[in-house]
Amino acid sequence: MPLSSLSDAQIYTSTEKRDVKKVPFVELLENRLQGIVSSGSDIERVYVSYFEAGSLNYCCSTNNNRPCGGLRGSPCGHLGALLDEAIIQFGFETVGRFLHIDMTQTDSAQAILTRAGHNTGIFAGEIFSRFLSDLELLELPNSHIPLSAMTWFNG
Ligand SMILES: [Zn+2]
Repeated sequence: MPLSSLSDAQIYTSTEKRDVKKVPFVELLENRLQGIVSSGSDIERVYVSYFEAGSLNYCCSTNNNRPCGGLRGSPCGHLGALLDEAIIQFGFETVGRFLHIDMTQTDSAQAILTRAGHNTGIFAGEIFSRFLSDLELLELPNSHIPLSAMTWFNG
């Protein structure tokens, strides 16, 4: 239906603001779309999430390296939110090309999610580290990342 393509196009307008509270950090780096996603329920917990370009394999863990309970054979809500926010920030074309997706057959974030690979189970602590240094650079006054997270990272 042409209607559904229209509504997709409307979602990806450049005027839409990123939801930084939900996804405070997102980037396209090397071969991963990666970032940090806030927990919906616990303000002191964040999730470290990524998709690999090409395979679309993914992983989601807490910043304390606990597997995300939402991963049950498919990407969890955090990964969905990460993808949505990446598309708002970088644009659908850029994200699709970065992930090596055939854009002639894929026209929405949902379509990308249905092509996802499998859970790598490999925690990527360096994403959390990049997020923390990003926070330091910005000198955000209201960072709710507990200092204990730093001890985990240094350990
Ligand atoms: Zn998750």
